[in-house]
This record gives sequence, structure tokens and C-alpha cells, in this order.
Amino acid sequence: MMVRLIIFGPPGAGKGTYSAKLEKILGITKISTGDVLREEVKRRTELGVKIEKYLEKGVLVPDDIVIEIVKREILRASPRGFILDGFPRNLYQAKALEKITTIDAIINLLIPEEILIEKLLGRRICSRCGEIYNVANIDRIIDGIRYLLPPLTPQREGVCDKCGGPLIMREDDKVEVIKRRLRVYKEYSEPIIEYYRSKGLEFIDILVNREPEVIVRRIVNALKSRGLLT
Ligand code: AMP
Repeated sequence: MMVRLIIFGPPGAGKGTYSAKLEKILGITKISTGDVLREEVKRRTELGVKIEKYLEKGVLVPDDIVIEIVKREILRASPRGFILDGFPRNLYQAKALEKITTIDAIINLLIPEEILIEKLLGRRICSRCGEIYNVANIDRIIDGIRYLLPPLTPQREGVCDKCGGPLIMREDDKVEVIKRRLRVYKEYSEPIIEYYRSKGLEFIDILVNREPEVIVRRIVNALKSRGLLT
């Protein structure tokens, strides 16, 4: 059975973390436009040099570039399906995606904005393999809901558990850039939700108020209860 998913939510919601876990558990391919773009920058390819300034500023890379990446990656994806992380980011991309593939469901992550900055500042990634960690220790009650998000730290401080690579902060996880990314999300990305709802796409709303294992379990259960997984 094939499942084609989008994981949607603001920067810092945990899209990358959950989609990496879903990739493992479900045998589907995680397609992260952000990961692909960062890799291009790191390798200093022609494309990487061209797009670096967009990532540094926290604004969207031109649509035609990311659409091409997504087309290519979907063709390469597992026959079991894929999960799109960070795409689509605006209505134009959402409409372009309709011409590329059908989507079975949107996992819509719900998390208060107040927590995002703390989570983004606490994020660390492996500079070698991209594995995601977080030093933020969040335990807060917002609108009567407890958000208990313990740190996700490696066994040895600053060293990736998976590959031994050094952990770093993402270049765009700085307060000014984070603020711009959140504004870009609100202005360009959030309208996709209404668009997809009006099209009758399957929505899976997931509250992000616990550690990743719990969130991933919620996602898997929701997919099962909708008959999207066997
Ligand atoms: P992310 O890793 O998803 O937070 O993406 C990091 C950065 O990559 C964003 O701030 C954008 O500059 C760029 N980016 C990632 N995905 C897209 C997309 N679908 N459209 C345009 N730019 C993107």
C-alpha cells in the first residue's frame, strides 16, 4: 500500500524530526526541500551558491527551483510512498504539486508560536548527516494545555549519536532570521491550509505537546484509523 503525505507546520514544529522517524517506521521516503537545499549550499554547487542568500535571510527560494527538486525526488521515492517536509510553502507550489502527484493526507502540526522561538534556538543538527537534536527544555502551560518537551540530546555532548559528526546550530536559527521565517510562514505558507481544506483534502491535526515518540505514535494511529496504513 502506498501513502503520499505532506507534513505541514511552522518552522520549529518538528517536521524534520517526525518525518525522519516516519521514514524509518513506514519505509517511505522523506523529501525535505530544506535538507536538499542545505546540502547544495554545503557542497558549493552552482545551485548552492545561487540560493545561499535566500536561506541566510530566511526567505523562500524561487518556486521553479524547489518544484524541480520535488519532481525529481518523488520519482526517486520508495514504492511505499513519501512524506513531503517543507513543501509546499505557498499557494503556487501547492498548485504545482497537484500536477505532479496526488496527496493522501496532510499532517498538520499545531503548536503555539510562543514555543517555536525557544525550540528553534535550542535546535542543533549534525553537520555531517543532518540528524536533529534539541537542547531546549520546555515545560509550560498555555491555554490550559501542558507542553512538556524535554531536550533531545546526544549521548556525548556535541557529537552525533548516528555518525559521530559535530553538532552545530543552523545558520538560519538566529533570532532575526527566525522572526522572518515565522512571518514568511504566516504570510505565504499558512494560506495553504484553507486552500487544502476547501479542496476537501484529508487533514490530520496533531497537537505538538509531548516528545517526538508520542507525536509519531499519534500520527501513525491517525493514519491507521483513516485506512491509510495497513
Ligand atoms: P526548512 O529546512 O524547511 O526550514 O527550510 C530552510 C530554508 O530553505 C527556508 O527558510 C527557505 O529559504 C528554503 N526552503 C525550504 N523549502 C522551501 C520551499 N518549499 N520553497 C522555498 N524555499 C524553501
